Amino acid sequence: MNDAAHDGDEGSKDFVREVIREDLEAGRTQTVVTRFPPEPNGYLHIGHAKSMCLNFGVAEEFSGRCHLRFDDTNPTKEEHEYIESIQEDVRWLGFDWGEHLFFASGHFDTLYEWAQHLIRAGKAYVDDLSPEEMREYRGTLTEPGKNSPYRDRPMEENLDLFTRMKAGEFKEGARVLRAKVDMASGNINMRDPVIYRILHAEHPRTGTEWCIYPTYDFAHGQSDAIEGVTHSLCTLEFADHRPLYDWLIASLPVPFVPRQYEFSRLNLTHTVLSKRRLIQLVEENHVRGWDDPRMPTLRGLRRRGYPAPAIRDFAQRVGVTKSDNVIEVQLLDHCARELLNKTAERRMAVLRPLKVVIENYPEGEDELLDAVNNPEDESAGKRQVPFSREIYIEREDFMEDPPKKFFRLGPGREVRLRYAYFITCTEVIKDDSGEVIELRCTYDPATRGGDAPDGRKVKGTLHWVSAAHAIAGEIRLYDHLFTEAEPSAGEGFLNGLNTESLTVLEGCKLEPSVAELPADAALQFERQGYFNRDPDSNDERLVYNRSVGLRDSWAKIVAKGGANT
Ligand code: ATP
Ligand code: MG
Repeated sequence: MNDAAHDGDEGSKDFVREVIREDLEAGRTQTVVTRFPPEPNGYLHIGHAKSMCLNFGVAEEFSGRCHLRFDDTNPTKEEHEYIESIQEDVRWLGFDWGEHLFFASGHFDTLYEWAQHLIRAGKAYVDDLSPEEMREYRGTLTEPGKNSPYRDRPMEENLDLFTRMKAGEFKEGARVLRAKVDMASGNINMRDPVIYRILHAEHPRTGTEWCIYPTYDFAHGQSDAIEGVTHSLCTLEFADHRPLYDWLIASLPVPFVPRQYEFSRLNLTHTVLSKRRLIQLVEENHVRGWDDPRMPTLRGLRRRGYPAPAIRDFAQRVGVTKSDNVIEVQLLDHCARELLNKTAERRMAVLRPLKVVIENYPEGEDELLDAVNNPEDESAGKRQVPFSREIYIEREDFMEDPPKKFFRLGPGREVRLRYAYFITCTEVIKDDSGEVIELRCTYDPATRGGDAPDGRKVKGTLHWVSAAHAIAGEIRLYDHLFTEAEPSAGEGFLNGLNTESLTVLEGCKLEPSVAELPADAALQFERQGYFNRDPDSNDERLVYNRSVGLRDSWAKIVAKGGANT
């Protein structure tokens, strides 16, 4: 078992787990079987992570199993690429479906037989109404629908037409198979829903074998029944489909009766979680791809440097409820930060360098100074950092005319260089335009390691990198993809894109030991946040993404009473 198993235990008293507990106690369920049912028409996002943590989580907790089932009933939008990437992402998040990999398309034969079963039972008919006519006949929320003139076709004729639909005799949209339920139902889903449609499209798995495909409603519950899924957990928008789910199960010779339960979908501030919108962002190049670190996809979060356990922790804190809500993205950042604080080794990196020459340090010499790798984890040990006469500090750590509360470097001021020495600024060098381009300082050799033997104190401690030893880096800083907390749900959502969501810093200076770390090691660059190496790195330069900053804006939200978890 992987470590995901241990995440979900305490505090998991949500209604889904209550239901399962009761079913087990009452003997209605022997082995809990759930499924995670992605449609392979896009990459997985953090909303799917919530669903996975629930489905795989409860299966694990109750010693059952969770199937991975591709809901591949719409060949026009589905691709192999997604089937592969989804499996990788599920594994990355820490879940294992074992041998229980299913495809709705793998059930197509049974579904076809069951459709015929419905026809024979007088519970399904072939309808020739055009899509527009069908819409008219369907009625509205306030008006009942009307029966189609084809509703009472003889059973034999329905069987014949359905066989010919399958044989490819008709054009797309010419005919559909509908369940015969109740056109006057208050629930529109029960007004003779379409259960098969004609699509002359090549399917990623079944090729051209089929030209009729079951709809979600006809495939989902039936797949659950075939696979013996006990608890079919889906999001709230399917609550209105549950009567149909139950009607179909009750009307078919199913080997097993599954039950559907609905929970609220995850909404997250400053982003969108709809595959359609995410596809648009990628296709219109508003982001650099599905794995752009600003994307809420698992690929994006992973590239950004959010560890899988932090995402599972987030899902657990969000919990499982029956009412819709919007979760602050700062909670996700908080989960990442909390984990990274314990696991990430510290290094020094200067993002916007300003050169400092230490005039009383011997020219051509250098030395190694001890630095702690992780104050939160003694076992991470120490490393040695080279120091020399010329170093870089952060541009923003110097002010020519500093206000009172600025405790960093200024003319005549003394500060500590982390793990190194106290330095005092003696001269400011500017270019013709008046921009500060270099500082001259002196150091106090007695303060080696960072403390003054005479007890003298300084208020500021700066990070730095030795100029001669620094390695070149590019650092990418990220901000929310959308400026507004809740981007508009309509087509205008792109207007809310944050034009400053990406800041690329070139010419950053990294401590040399950074190059020796494994490519996937999470790092804290001191005073700057948590970072991870981007695959764009090459021999010439390392590229780092900032996963999250150090400051916890979640704490502020909680303090203000604004958290909605
Ligand atoms: P989208 O609206 O992004 O297209 P979807 O529901 O069509 O998502 P599916 O691939 O069908 O995507 O989803 C697979 C499973 O993940 C479903 O059970 C679905 O309910 C669940 N899921 C999708 N989005 C969320 C979300 N935001 N929060 C929780 N569960 C989600
Ligand atoms: Mg869906």
